[in-house]
Amino acid sequence: MNILVTGAAGFIGFHLADRLARDGHRVVALDNLNDYYAVSLKRARLDQLSGPVIETTDIADLPALEALFRRERFTHVVNLAAQAGVRHSVEHPHEYGRSNLIGFLNLLDVCKRFEIEHLLYASSSSVYGRQETLPFKETDPVDRPASLYAATKRADEMMAYSYADLHRLPSTGMRFFTVYGPWGRPDMAPCLFAGALLNGNPIDIFNHGRMARDFTYIDDVVESIVRLLPLAPGEDAGAPHEIYNVGRGEPVALLDFVELLERTLGIQATKRFRDMQPGDIERTWADTHKLQSMIDFKPQVSLEVGIERFVAWLKDYEGLLLESLAA
Ligand code: NAD
Repeated sequence: MNILVTGAAGFIGFHLADRLARDGHRVVALDNLNDYYAVSLKRARLDQLSGPVIETTDIADLPALEALFRRERFTHVVNLAAQAGVRHSVEHPHEYGRSNLIGFLNLLDVCKRFEIEHLLYASSSSVYGRQETLPFKETDPVDRPASLYAATKRADEMMAYSYADLHRLPSTGMRFFTVYGPWGRPDMAPCLFAGALLNGNPIDIFNHGRMARDFTYIDDVVESIVRLLPLAPGEDAGAPHEIYNVGRGEPVALLDFVELLERTLGIQATKRFRDMQPGDIERTWADTHKLQSMIDFKPQVSLEVGIERFVAWLKDYEGLLLESLAA
């Protein structure tokens, strides 16, 4: 396959581009290297990649995308480029419109025009909002996003559906659930907590600890994407479009996550209990039956092993993480 991975300097995109290149595919790793979080971390990730061709382009720049697609004959596209971050979207809505709506629309359109065999794209567990029924199933109603970030991810799903229905562009949306692991994102809880512990700072625990997340280890997410990539939805059931939860399927109380991290790092935390943050939701939990039956794969990495691997990575990259958190 000749694969475009967008957002490839990001956490998930970097791991995916690396894996696909190791599997022998031609990979173009695209990113605009924006400064939402430390650019030094994004560059350090790219420096680790030896196989993929690096392309510094913005998906909101349509002529640049068209030129790239004309030059390359991509067969598959994985769109992970987005303005991420639930809390950030409350205060800074416009970047979400530019990257997650305009950028994604550009990508859909070039994928249609250049007859891409399969477009996979990142959606998010956040589309489920504050719904009471657990675990979250793909058939649950998703019309009440709790943040603008979630609203743009839901909009992406609907735009992809319309391109599948009207233009027969096969696409698959992946609703990721709190991904963690080495090279993780400095704006997300695992890195924020680890950084606070290493710096001897207090950890902020929101909603006074009444929070749970379906933490999913990065390698399990990458394996799921790799298995989904050749499985373009067919025409038989209407529009060639599918949506899957990509999560571990086991919610973990935030305080249990912190305790395990403390134990693995051998550092005791000082905790500051805070109110719920605007846009946040209390608990996420993926129903994973649909994905498992499609790709015949169950997440392999337990929370204990995942945190051990994350802490092992920190031994070599503690300085980079702390510098990223300070940026
Ligand atoms: P990330 O922020 O580390 O990676 C996204 C990358 O996209 C960044 O490197 C950024 O520079 C790039 N980017 C942003 N806007 C761009 C644009 N307009 N053009 C080109 N590049 C652009 O995030 P991540 O954790 O790797 O997430 C990947 C995708 O998965 C995102 O779409 C995110 O919303 C989604 N997601 C992630 C999680 C998670 O737990 N990490 C959960 C749910 C959904």
